[in-house]
Amino acid sequence: MKIAILAGDGIGPEITEEAVKVLKAVGDFEFEQALIGGVAFDKYGEHFPEETRKICENADAVLFGSVGGPVASKEAKWQGCETNSILALRKAFSFYANLRPVKLYKGLPCVLKDEIVEKGVDILCVRELLSCIYFGEHKTENGRASDVMQYTEDEVRAIARIAFEAAMKRSKKVTSVDKANVLDCSKLWRKVVEEVAKDYSECEFEHVLVDNMAMQIIKRPYDFDVLLMPNMFGDIISDEASVLSSSLGMLPSASLNKDGFGLYEPSGGSAPDIAGRGAANPIGQILSAAMMLKYSFNMHKEHDAIVAAVDMAIADGYRTADIAEKEHTFVSTDVMGDAIVKYINL
Ligand code: NAD
Repeated sequence: MKIAILAGDGIGPEITEEAVKVLKAVGDFEFEQALIGGVAFDKYGEHFPEETRKICENADAVLFGSVGGPVASKEAKWQGCETNSILALRKAFSFYANLRPVKLYKGLPCVLKDEIVEKGVDILCVRELLSCIYFGEHKTENGRASDVMQYTEDEVRAIARIAFEAAMKRSKKVTSVDKANVLDCSKLWRKVVEEVAKDYSECEFEHVLVDNMAMQIIKRPYDFDVLLMPNMFGDIISDEASVLSSSLGMLPSASLNKDGFGLYEPSGGSAPDIAGRGAANPIGQILSAAMMLKYSFNMHKEHDAIVAAVDMAIADGYRTADIAEKEHTFVSTDVMGDAIVKYINL
């Protein structure tokens, strides 16, 4: 099995190196590196060069780090970097379904009240990834800017099916998030999701408005199983959900197309504030690699072994700075990767 490695910018290469280390510990894979983002711009003058696209096309799955520079930078190579690389990559391979599992790790610092932590959290965010406001027309003219939000019934149906199918293998509950009290896109979303729900009568099903969801996910996260979300709402709510896992650095994700080809990446960005210091948490990327084994390669035993190894490393007190309770009690990115490898038991 051939894996395209697109480490990218900032902390991308640091966390991806640890994920590759873990993959090597559980199987025999071929890795091919390709440039994307600012590092690709430095070499090719573009963020997503043809050579990178070909390497992805010839791979069985893609492991992606992160792209982008400091948010306020005016440097040419960072202008449009995220749009030209990760959004273009998603579009090029039609990665329409984004899955982000969120779980609560007991023992990690958490903003939630103890009685909520006690009940546990196990949520799967299912986010539509190829439509909505990010892919509509963006225009600025005569002091007026507009971004077009759009959805087709087919796009909603496809992602709704993914959510209901996933829920059937979990706790059989889907919460669909929209803004149907205002937006036509959300009214269409709601209508189609209700049609799909009829095929899954065993599944509990509810609608929650996105502004209310932003509150409920913190107040009663234990009540949710699968969250079905349009692109923009999913982007925001799944980042918010990361506080339940203690840090953005803990969250993995899988983006799949209709043929089952997948791109795997952590939920956070390139974190320029901590890049190059060995301070990044590699767990999100290591768990993304584990998702690759499950969704792309059907290697469930190896997936479970990595997830268990992460749990053991945390239970044994390994912490990177972002999840450390106290100052100076944390380990570096590579020490965390080594610890997880040490706990793998196949
Ligand atoms: P960010 O996600 O990079 O960082 C937000 C905060 O989370 C920072 O404090 C950062 O240190 C922390 N963080 C993120 N991942 C971490 C990890 N693994 N370990 C420890 N801490 C971690 O978001 P930002 O600062 O808004 O954006 C920085 C750059 O990343 C921008 O150029 C943005 O466009 C880009 N970005 C890229 C992607 C992607 O490649 N898919 C996604 C989001 C943002």
